[in-house]
Amino acid sequence: MSIRQFLFASVAALVAAPALAEEVNVYTTRQSYLIEPVMAAFTAETGIRVNLAFVEKGLVERLKSEGSRSPADLVMTVDIANLNQIVEAGVLQAVDSPVLKAAVPADLRSPEDKWFALTSRARIVYASKDRVPDGEVTTYEDLASDKWKGRICTRPGVHDYNLALLAAMIAHHGEDAARDWVAGLRANLARKPEGNDRSQVKAIWAGECDISLGNTYYMGAMLADPEQKAWAESVRIVFPRFENGGTHLNVSGIGMTAAAPNRDAALKLMEWLVSPQAQAIYAETNHEYPVLAGAKRSDLVASWGEFQPDTLDLTELARLRPAALKIMEEVGYDN
Ligand code: FE
Repeated sequence: MSIRQFLFASVAALVAAPALAEEVNVYTTRQSYLIEPVMAAFTAETGIRVNLAFVEKGLVERLKSEGSRSPADLVMTVDIANLNQIVEAGVLQAVDSPVLKAAVPADLRSPEDKWFALTSRARIVYASKDRVPDGEVTTYEDLASDKWKGRICTRPGVHDYNLALLAAMIAHHGEDAARDWVAGLRANLARKPEGNDRSQVKAIWAGECDISLGNTYYMGAMLADPEQKAWAESVRIVFPRFENGGTHLNVSGIGMTAAAPNRDAALKLMEWLVSPQAQAIYAETNHEYPVLAGAKRSDLVASWGEFQPDTLDLTELARLRPAALKIMEEVGYDN
């Protein structure tokens, strides 16, 4: 075939090909079963294909090394520490969307429009139904009081979830008071910090401790697991608050990469994820709190009742994370 024939053939093939389906590429650290139902609903509604890449470790490094050639349009992860790390790596672009701004409260999105929370979760107390009477759990500050001596279990202090809680304590009371508090909490531990949030509930079930710190959605996860159901049923969720604030919150969130090859489709997906329909599906699958006011919570989540969320800016928690880590190490929380 001559060059001329080849060119004609190529152009003819292009013209004859059906329009390329729109698609959007998402990198996520979330587990597939938590994210697939809401993406399937988006594709059913819009015809836009969602390609999910589950990146368990090294998300930031991967985005940095791919740079402007990254196929990723969107990044979905949990915890302000992770969202902030991605912002600081310089791999996200600001998204100026009136839809996102109207749906996501200002304290649950980046001040530069680089990330937007999709759901929130509270860090609460799991309390033994048998050994902790109603009203005994009050504030986070009170967890350092003598009445809890030998009764508390937590995962390691250097985990992001506990560092964010300590960062909130610093924001409310200053570094010195936060250091005293976490030293007091450590003095009340029933055992050396180990395992994850669910392991602490298992320890309550086994009688090793009476209360633990954990995120709300793990109640849903435990109830859905035949082995863990009994652990979940041995405790109830109590919402402690700060003496001068509310119950500690963290988020799952989304941001658009600077590289985003499918920017229009990516923006459609971001905006759809804060619609009432998507918020209800996502909150139902995850047992998290929707960020959209009035969106439906799962029946389980609704059964825990209302609480007053703390209103500290999440960006402030990210800023105080290094100070929290330093204090956690100074008091030897995990030793
Ligand atoms: Fe978690």
